[in-house]
Amino acid sequence: RAELTRAESLIREVPDYPSAGILFRDITPLLADGRAFRETVDALIAPFRGAFDVVAGLEARGFLLASAAAYASGAGLMPIRKAGKLPRPAAHVEYALEYGDAEVEAHADFPRGSRVLLIDDVLATGGTLVAAHTLLGELGYAAAGTAVLFEIAGLGGREAVGDPTLHTVFRS
Ligand code: IMP
Repeated sequence: RAELTRAESLIREVPDYPSAGILFRDITPLLADGRAFRETVDALIAPFRGAFDVVAGLEARGFLLASAAAYASGAGLMPIRKAGKLPRPAAHVEYALEYGDAEVEAHADFPRGSRVLLIDDVLATGGTLVAAHTLLGELGYAAAGTAVLFEIAGLGGREAVGDPTLHTVFRS
């Protein structure tokens, strides 16, 4: 669609951020454009309509997309946070980053068996989404799908996530 092509053109490539050799995809100009933001969120959830009860978003940019997706679909919102931010974490999963380790945590505010659509802004190596899927499993939730705004190809992220439902709106 023409509107989505325009939305894609709003994603900025920032060389050497946050460190040398990294080409960072900055989605904030897309979010700044009301029509592009709405079209993109609609495209993100389109394949999963009616198939989820909850939208989970990964801190921090995943929150922006997941909350819009939850509102648009009447689903509940599950924030998946970085370590140490929640008052009563029910589940936590550690995972390895390129430099050091990270941890994601969530509350158990939904019934076991809830169908959760997982959303993030960018897929790189897939480590973050793999950890998030493990977290959903620990809480007894069912994965309803994985939706990502931008997929960086060539880093093995899609293979690492290993989710046949993985849906990405834009890719490199
Ligand atoms: P992964 O775990 O290697 O797939 O990295 C994905 C996570 O890092 C996501 O939560 C993204 O928000 C973040 N990330 C990695 N690369 C970028 C980028 O180019 N732009 C924005 N976020 C990124």
